[in-house]
Amino acid sequence: MSKLCQGPSCHMYDTTDRKRGPKGNKRNQTRTVNRYGYGNGDFCTLNCQNDWWKEHGTRAVDYIGRLREPKAMTPENSWIKRENYYTWQRENNEPRYYFRNVCTQEERPLTEQQFNDTSYTLNTGE
Ligand SMILES: [Zn+2]
Repeated sequence: MSKLCQGPSCHMYDTTDRKRGPKGNKRNQTRTVNRYGYGNGDFCTLNCQNDWWKEHGTRAVDYIGRLREPKAMTPENSWIKRENYYTWQRENNEPRYYFRNVCTQEERPLTEQQFNDTSYTLNTGE
């Protein structure tokens, strides 16, 4: 079954694809989320995502845990995975996949397997 859009007012937007029911008694219904859905596939449009956020966003942040202290970039938490997509980027024998430390600018090559492993990281601190 298709996922329904979680926008609290999705059914209030008047579009032809929302109209359902027998002729003469059509009414607007919540859309299903298509494969290009927004907000991790929970909303049919950014409008619906924004509607949800206006209604529930602050409670969601409080429920998940509000940030109370500022975070800081350090060499220990600043490794991000990068990919050289284009052949012109790899012509100088640059690696296809690499880590880049956005704090120190250091770069280290990665294997494709390490790149695709979402738990593989060089980060050691918050
Ligand atoms: Zn929607």
